Amino acid sequence: MPAEFPDFRLGNVLATSFAATLTERRGDAVERIPTPQRLIDWLAVNGLTVDYCTTAQLELAWALRESIHAAATATALQDALPESAVHVINDCSIEGRASAILTLEHTRRWRLSSASRVEDALGVIAADAISIIAGERDGRLALCASPTCRAAFFDTSQSRSRKWCDMNTCGNRQKKARFKANQRKNTGARGNSPPSNSA
Ligand SMILES: [Zn+2]
Repeated sequence: MPAEFPDFRLGNVLATSFAATLTERRGDAVERIPTPQRLIDWLAVNGLTVDYCTTAQLELAWALRESIHAAATATALQDALPESAVHVINDCSIEGRASAILTLEHTRRWRLSSASRVEDALGVIAADAISIIAGERDGRLALCASPTCRAAFFDTSQSRSRKWCDMNTCGNRQKKARFKANQRKNTGARGNSPPSNSA
């Protein structure tokens, strides 16, 4: 029977979706690509099919992911870019030999130089990270408002006011937590004397 692994959290920005293969970084972290096979699965879902992945390639993927996370976080906070992270991102971009292919259906596909080149897939992800961190695309890097998450996400909302990396998980959880806190406050306040300093 296959082992159970946590689901992927897929967004529409490749680089930040990749960074989100590790979630709850400030809480009980959840590793969503713990094995080479899970990296293969994630890449396939994102149109970067490889047929083989070694442990060393998985480790390289983790290093790229953490570098994207670090550089995207620094950008969201308007801090200086961490040099080591920039190095890893650039190295992955340089190593990648994927080609963009235009299909007759008006879509872009990536063709890797060989089906076992995880490095090509990582190069595509690194290039995507470069384009958002360099501010080339319409949107803004921001950090998730959830205190246990703080993931960097790419906000493309018109008002640039998105608060959570993912509405279905972090957003919902925050809403529920706030609802509970309000309920507690309301029940706790009952029977207490009114606040003395009415401003
Ligand atoms: Zn989040």
